[in-house]
Formats: sequence, C-alpha cells, structure tokens
Amino acid sequence: MVGEQSEPVHGRGTDLGQDKAHSARVYDYFLGGKTNYAVDREVADTVIRLFPTAESAARVNRAFMHRAVRALTRLGVRQFIDVGTGIPMSPNLHQVAQSVAPDSRVAYVDNDPIVHVYCDPLLDSTAEGVTCYVQADATEPAAVIDAVKREGVIDFGRPVALSLHALLQFVTGDDEPYRMVRRLMQELPSGSYLSLSHDTGDFVPEPWQAVVDTYAQAGTPARVRTRAEVMRFFDGLDLIEPGLVVGHRWRPEPGSGPSLVSDAQVSLYAGVARKP
Ligand code: SAH
Repeated sequence: MVGEQSEPVHGRGTDLGQDKAHSARVYDYFLGGKTNYAVDREVADTVIRLFPTAESAARVNRAFMHRAVRALTRLGVRQFIDVGTGIPMSPNLHQVAQSVAPDSRVAYVDNDPIVHVYCDPLLDSTAEGVTCYVQADATEPAAVIDAVKREGVIDFGRPVALSLHALLQFVTGDDEPYRMVRRLMQELPSGSYLSLSHDTGDFVPEPWQAVVDTYAQAGTPARVRTRAEVMRFFDGLDLIEPGLVVGHRWRPEPGSGPSLVSDAQVSLYAGVARKP
C-alpha cells in the first residue's frame, strides 16, 4: 500500500476522501513521502509553483519539531500531546523524545482517517515509554482531551508539552483557534509547554494568498497569520529563548534542516512557551 504512490487504497474499510486533497497528504508529498494521491500532488505542485521553497519549508518545520522536542525533553518534559500529527515520517515525535528519554509518553491526535490507517509507526514505543493514537478533531478540544484521557497514556497531574505544529493554519476562524488552544492548555498543569509552528504571509503576501486560495479551492480551508496573530496563541504563557522566530532560527543546530533558507523562503513562525 504505502509505496504505490498513485494507487488509492481502501484502508481498514475507511473512507479516506481520496476525491479531494488533504493537508496531511499534501504535506507528506512536500516531505518526499509516498502516502499521497493524484489530487494531493496536483495541489502540492500548484503550491510549489506559487511558493517554490514549499518542500524546504516543510523540512524546516519538521526539523523545528525535532529540535523543540529534544529541548523539551532536556528540560525534563516526559509527556507530549501532539495534535495534527500528520502521516508518520521517521523520526516521529516519540522517537525524538525517546532518543533523549526512553520513558517519554506520547499521545498522537489527528482527524484525518489516513493518519489512522498508517499510524502503526506511531505506536512503536520503547519498552520504558508508551504511545497512543487517537482520531479526534482539534476544533473540539474537550473531545480531544476526553479521548486522550481514555487512553491512560498521559498523567494530567504532571507537565505535558502540547505540540501544535503546522496545524492552526487549517483552523480558519478569527477566535476559534485561540479558544481551542486555551481550552487545551487549561487542562495542563503549571510547568507544561506549548510548542507551535504556523505559516505566515508576512514576508511574501501575494504568493501566500494564492497558496491559501489553492487549498480552499481544493476543499481544505486554510489561512496564514501575521506574527502578532501567531503571538496571541502564547497569551498568558512565557516564551522560552529565542522567542517566536522564523522556523530555521529556532535554536539552529548544524545539520538540522535545509541550509541557505531565508525568512521568506520558510514563511513559518515557530515558538515554545512555558505555562507559569
Ligand atoms: N504536525 C506535523 C504534520 C503537519 S500537517 C508536522 O508538523 O510535521 C497538518 C496536520 O494537521 C495534518 O495531518 C492534518 O490532518 C491535521 N489536521 C488539520 N486539521 C485538523 C483538525 N481540525 N484536527 C486534527 N488534526 C487536524
């Protein structure tokens, strides 16, 4: 199944919505994965025409996840809730965390059935740690929390890092995404963290408007946000160094992510903040 790039699959009896592009599969294509269909590649190729560094930008986003998770694990965090996980792409979040702390516990959440179909690599935990996958919609944060609680993987009495990487651009309301993030963070104790990345049109507005329109026409509403709008997600939290920056500038490490990228070529803000 995986590997046959152009052949739609009928995974576990699920309707995978193969007639329209899905953000998880478009992103998979940007990362060089094989879990995507012709409809997804058509959108991805249009996006690449409009924003030629889309693939590098996706790799910058993924590399930010790796660095943020390593940093959080070194800060002592042992529990992660990753909402908008995406199609597995090694190393996945738990592999990064467990490479530093093998006892790390990770709950993955996505609403796209294709992620569910291919979620097996997400469940491949160390013996000391544990992972789970739940299918839930981030726009229903109470349902997300209930579903994660039912799995019993996360102890809500101890600090948790909530990661929302490249997710919120697909939550298009003016207030809804802020309410959603607040509701999720409200469940987590002091000493928890929010790790977030978000596309922006700040540097090259016109191509990004065209990218957003391309997603919308394909049936996937999306929006970019300004730095101030992304900053608002961190209200009440303390950003850790270096603050909210363009993805490749967040604690860069040699060999982590593509080199020679400018802010405009990345067009993605990234930050990590602690709940006081
Ligand atoms: N977080 C990963 C993947 C980002 S792609 C990374 O940064 O590498 C965006 C993901 O968000 C996709 O898998 C898509 O299915 C998921 N997504 C979009 N809207 C969602 C929603 N309302 N609830 C849960 N997941 C959502």
